[in-house]
Amino acid sequence: MVTEENKSIFQNKILAWFVSEKRDFPWRQDLNPYKVLIAEKLLQQTQVNENVIRAYKQLLKKYPSPTDLAEADIADVEVIIRPLGFIYRARELCKMAQELVKIHNGQVPNELRKLLDLTGIGDYCARAVLSFSFDKDVPIVDTNVARFLYRLYEIPGPFPSNPARKKSLIELAGNLVPIGNSRNYNLAILDLCSKICKPTNPNCLNCPVQDFCKYGTKQIVKKNISP
Ligand code: SF4
Repeated sequence: MVTEENKSIFQNKILAWFVSEKRDFPWRQDLNPYKVLIAEKLLQQTQVNENVIRAYKQLLKKYPSPTDLAEADIADVEVIIRPLGFIYRARELCKMAQELVKIHNGQVPNELRKLLDLTGIGDYCARAVLSFSFDKDVPIVDTNVARFLYRLYEIPGPFPSNPARKKSLIELAGNLVPIGNSRNYNLAILDLCSKICKPTNPNCLNCPVQDFCKYGTKQIVKKNISP
């Protein structure tokens, strides 16, 4: 279990794992906040795949700044978004860009409240921008991170329908974020959830934080005693 005393060891294990195991995506090569907003919007309710990567590149090539996207014809943006589904995101992206231009002088704000006020930007997305682009000490929580926390602490009770907005989970996740290194830590947790702590059959034996995890410890003991 993670405690105040061993928390830094837990954080270091995650960060050390990340050095060799991190995933590489085009949106991780440039953490400009506008680009992170675009990437996170495309990843809403969507698995990473070739279509997302193509749409990300096309959008930024055609609309390299909020000002460009604010002036876009929605039908053109829809053409780019269509292969991903959830086409309403084209309209939301254009509206968000218009708000950035009108209210924030074409810049992405670095405050949670202001990000949440933008069209189509929820808690997860706003915190991702604050952490990845501005390196603010904030946690990010989506369904995968919430599952990781539920396993780590064996949190009782039903799984929340909207974990990104559950205050107790955000506080719990926030307590684990290393001061001054939220960007790498949060990216590492996302990658850990994708590669090791998967929705089904988590790979506890190869997990860097198995010693801290209540669920994982039990799984490993079970495997060791089963014939
Ligand atoms: Fe997930 Fe298993 Fe690691 Fe726990 S030990 S965090 S359940 S992979």
